[in-house]
Amino acid sequence: MDIQSQYQQLEDAVRIYNPSADFEGIQRAFAFADIAHRGQKRKSGEPYIVHPLAVAMIVAKELRLDSESIEAALLHDVIEDTPATAEELSRLFSPTIANLVEGVSKLTRIQYTTKEDEQMENFRKMLFAMSRDIRVILVKISDRLHNMRTMDYQTPAKQRQKSLETMEIYAPISHRLGMQRIKWELEDLSLKYLDPIGYEEIVSKTEVDRPRYEVMMEQTQAEIHRHLEEMGIRHEIFYRMKHPYSIYRKMFIQHKSLEEIFDLFAFRIIVDTVQDCYAVMGEIHALYNPINERIKDYIGIPKPNGYQSIHTTVIGNRGVPFEVQIRTREMNEIAEYGVAAHWKYKQGVEEEGTEGRFEWVRRLLENQEGADAEDYIRSLKVDLFDDEVFVFTPRGDVRSFPPGATPIDFAYAIHSDIGNSMTGAKVNNRLVPLNTVLKSGDIVEILTSKNAKGPGRDWMQMARSNEARSKIRQWLKRERKDENIANGRAAFESELRHFGLRIRDITTPEILAALLRNTSYHTLDELYAAIGYGGFTAQKAVMRIEGELKRAAKQRTEGEIKEEAPSKKVRSEQGIIVEGLDNCLVKFSRCCTPVPGDEIQGFITRGFGVSVHRADCPNASPERRKENPDRWIPVTWGSDTNESYPTSLEVVCRDRDNLARDIAAALSDLKISIRGLNIHATEDDFALCRLDLRVRDLEELNKVMRRIHQISGVLNVTRPAG
Ligand code: MN
Repeated sequence: MDIQSQYQQLEDAVRIYNPSADFEGIQRAFAFADIAHRGQKRKSGEPYIVHPLAVAMIVAKELRLDSESIEAALLHDVIEDTPATAEELSRLFSPTIANLVEGVSKLTRIQYTTKEDEQMENFRKMLFAMSRDIRVILVKISDRLHNMRTMDYQTPAKQRQKSLETMEIYAPISHRLGMQRIKWELEDLSLKYLDPIGYEEIVSKTEVDRPRYEVMMEQTQAEIHRHLEEMGIRHEIFYRMKHPYSIYRKMFIQHKSLEEIFDLFAFRIIVDTVQDCYAVMGEIHALYNPINERIKDYIGIPKPNGYQSIHTTVIGNRGVPFEVQIRTREMNEIAEYGVAAHWKYKQGVEEEGTEGRFEWVRRLLENQEGADAEDYIRSLKVDLFDDEVFVFTPRGDVRSFPPGATPIDFAYAIHSDIGNSMTGAKVNNRLVPLNTVLKSGDIVEILTSKNAKGPGRDWMQMARSNEARSKIRQWLKRERKDENIANGRAAFESELRHFGLRIRDITTPEILAALLRNTSYHTLDELYAAIGYGGFTAQKAVMRIEGELKRAAKQRTEGEIKEEAPSKKVRSEQGIIVEGLDNCLVKFSRCCTPVPGDEIQGFITRGFGVSVHRADCPNASPERRKENPDRWIPVTWGSDTNESYPTSLEVVCRDRDNLARDIAAALSDLKISIRGLNIHATEDDFALCRLDLRVRDLEELNKVMRRIHQISGVLNVTRPAG
């Protein structure tokens, strides 16, 4: 048959169920595909266009889909196999059609490899996730069906590979979408290539036995027909041999011979109403002996894919068992065409308590209740797996992640060692930042190195999966112990400042004991580390000993007042310009010891001129300034600053020998004069070092701080304030 008449057949097939289809669009899609594929041949030697035409025919005849689907079927291979682009299709046809064709092409590009069941399940789900529009899957299944029908022309290796894929991916998807007829055909065709001998055995044997059974089945059919007529039930009745793959499964899975298999035959009785279904079941059971454990009522409880029917197996007159399926016309349509059948039925399926893993099919059916069937498939965006993203490993395994997942989640899902030694990631062969959000279908590759520095704290925010986060937390807890302790200690100290306290103020036996008791840590290190890696917060720690801290703060302030009174030496003209006041007395506050380069604030003291604080000194905080607003005065550094200014540093270290010597040596290297070095070992095995020195300015001070930080055992260097 020539191509043109094949096309004519397609139009005829569409006209039967959809007389108002967009025939002009379908015609243009055909013409475009015909020209695009011109010169290409199928393995059978036929012109390539035969294939898209056949796929469109399946979409029309078997699935009865809309004009857009027919057009997409005709165009389904042009992006993959010809120079045509999605943009072109979008312009010439519509963005929807371009998306459908692009979706099918994407699925075509996926390389399946045989995997364990869980992997196959992920593959199937990924197909949905990638498809967005369910019509993409329906066209893809039609494409596969035609390829399987013409598989004889392929090499044995290809036949086997495609058949496996079909058996593991496309047949289950067809089943899930309730498309029974296509599922059977895909299974039978796959079986033919996967086990040619087994397939042949079943086909030939059932052929041989057929005439013998045929007579009996015809008599039985007549008998049932007569009884239902008498009852006044309108019905249609068919019988058929079970399809080869379902027999095969029974034979090879249950180790039975063909003779031992129950119900090689099945009757199907189609009636008008659900009441009729049950009436027919009663009558069948009156006529023949039911095998009781084989009565299944899928009308009361539909299968998860929406399938509804009553199944019963009975013993016939000559002792031959057969199955009877009883359903309404609508149930039959849905059983045969599945999702695609909803296209035809505007009223929808009555919802019963469907359950099981494929909840989405239920939603799928629910969604179209009351909805216009015209819109139904169109709007059937596959949001079914929107809560999962499926990506590939370079080996072709599929992994699923929560939406928003990044290469970090991927790396930790493979193995925690991979995550911990990750240095970068490639998505679809391109280097990407670690916070790149993965999309279904992405191929993700993780770059690792033995010298990787391990996960950063920011990875916690970039990871979406709990698995990755907990592994990162574990690592940080384990590997960054010193850093955690130092960070935790700093956070804790900064909380203490709200009470005007330092860590040295709380390492008294009473407060320390209360702290550890109330936080349930054994040592301060443990507490600091927990704060450092995020297992506990500094705020909580402080709240647990609030009472003790308030008492300690009170004692401290009383002590300070006594301390401050005697030292009131006044210095002036220290390189400070006080706004609006010439030659006034200037002193540098002892609490924060500012040096040139620091932002500063002036406070007019009673009788001692202007006291200069660092702007970030707690004693010059905005709250403090509100207490005496008229005493605060703007000050700046002049150009004629002194040779040097006294200031202090506070160094937190692990307590160790020779610490003072190392610090002194470092400062002497930098030619910095030390005015005081006071090391005090704390009860938590730290050394707190108070360093009084003179520096020219902030730049020099920063240099000193960096240098001290490099000394072994030093965890933290800060400028005390407040
Ligand atoms: Mn194709």
